[in-house]
Amino acid sequence: MKYTALKGVHDIFPPDVYVWQKVETTAKEVFSVYGFHEIRVPIMESTDIFIRSIGETSDIVEKEMYTFPDKANRSITLRPEGTAPVVRSFIENHLYNQPSPQKFFYSGPMFRYERPQKGRFRQFYQIGVEAFGVSEARLDAEIISMLKLFLERLGLTELNFEVNSIGCEKCRPDYKKALIDFFPDKVGGLCPDCNRRYTQNPLRILDCKVAACIELRKGAPQVINYLCIDCKEHFEEFQSLLRLLNVTYIINPNMVRGLDYYTRTTFEVTSEHLGSQKAVAAGGRYDRLVEEFGGPPTPAIGFAIGMERLVEILKTHNSTFRTPAPGAFLATIGNDAGRESLKIAEKLRSKGITVELGYEGASLKSQMRKADKLGANYVFIIGEDELKSGKIKWKNLKDGSQGEVGIKEIEGFMV
Ligand code: ATP
Ligand code: MG
Repeated sequence: MKYTALKGVHDIFPPDVYVWQKVETTAKEVFSVYGFHEIRVPIMESTDIFIRSIGETSDIVEKEMYTFPDKANRSITLRPEGTAPVVRSFIENHLYNQPSPQKFFYSGPMFRYERPQKGRFRQFYQIGVEAFGVSEARLDAEIISMLKLFLERLGLTELNFEVNSIGCEKCRPDYKKALIDFFPDKVGGLCPDCNRRYTQNPLRILDCKVAACIELRKGAPQVINYLCIDCKEHFEEFQSLLRLLNVTYIINPNMVRGLDYYTRTTFEVTSEHLGSQKAVAAGGRYDRLVEEFGGPPTPAIGFAIGMERLVEILKTHNSTFRTPAPGAFLATIGNDAGRESLKIAEKLRSKGITVELGYEGASLKSQMRKADKLGANYVFIIGEDELKSGKIKWKNLKDGSQGEVGIKEIEGFMV
């Protein structure tokens, strides 16, 4: 019997796990400086939470959700994204009673039943942020700038910031109408999904990845030409603030995003190194969602970073993430030395030094080889003679120097 992981999921182990940790700690550091606090929400929710927020006609709800009945026949869904659960929590826990904006970040696994391929998994990880209670474009600009700083801290400076505005409930109907007027003679050539979208949610056609649909939508009306005065001003202000903060951006008028809850600002960070799955992070405003979920009217904005794609870029860009090497390796000969080494190891470890030991009566030669392979800084050699004299031999594997140190002094020697 050979067990394998499920299709589209993956294990994360050393040395890659150190890239992941670096990303996670950097995110926490940077987001904290901007006043974001961690929120931990469940991995599963009632299915309707996702249908109501992401939208019935979105790809996620139509095709990608891991939905199943629990033993009491409730419909449960493994979260495909983080915004809906955070909004649910924000309302349920009355977090809106705290001063605005309320700012949160989260990280963890998301689940989508997609065709597995490069940059696309069924269990994947996101780090995301959500900020509630402020509608002015200064917050949008701050959030983009925060994302930029986070990526810069990781050494990534060559990513594209694509922005757009998809308007509000006032201007969206005009735009929808313009799209419906544009497509009638092209509908036949669109994919079956887009045929359905044409009647149910024409905006979704702009997000379709089928080649024929991409071709047929060329020349389609662009949402930024249909914005109402308020949305237009908001978008202008947002852009002027991005320039003020030296964020280089491009307007991508076709970026409508795949989820229904977005309003006004939308954005994606893309990389040329990822092939067709090129979005590393994506987000936008969702000024109506909290209210639609039964909370008080609360404008909001957020984004999510795709961890696998980010780690992929970091691995090709940056080789400085390695499995940490031990500070000391204790090579021992004989039982008594083995016992003594445990004591020494514990002492050093309590001072924060990583210590590895030789086991199973391996020869000194093979223990030295192991120390070398692990990249240990120092090897200490402890045998019968050393126990008697109370002095043990050390060797610095980095510069080849060697000498002796008293067993009692080893702590001071290392620290
Ligand atoms: P895409 O257009 O690539 O399908 P999306 O619009 O579905 O992305 P979002 O829901 O906005 O993506 O998620 C934000 C980020 O999460 C994406 O930019 C991407 O980096 C990552 N992501 C989304 N789906 C997957 C997946 N199946 N596997 C790995 N990462 C993903
Ligand atoms: Mg998708």
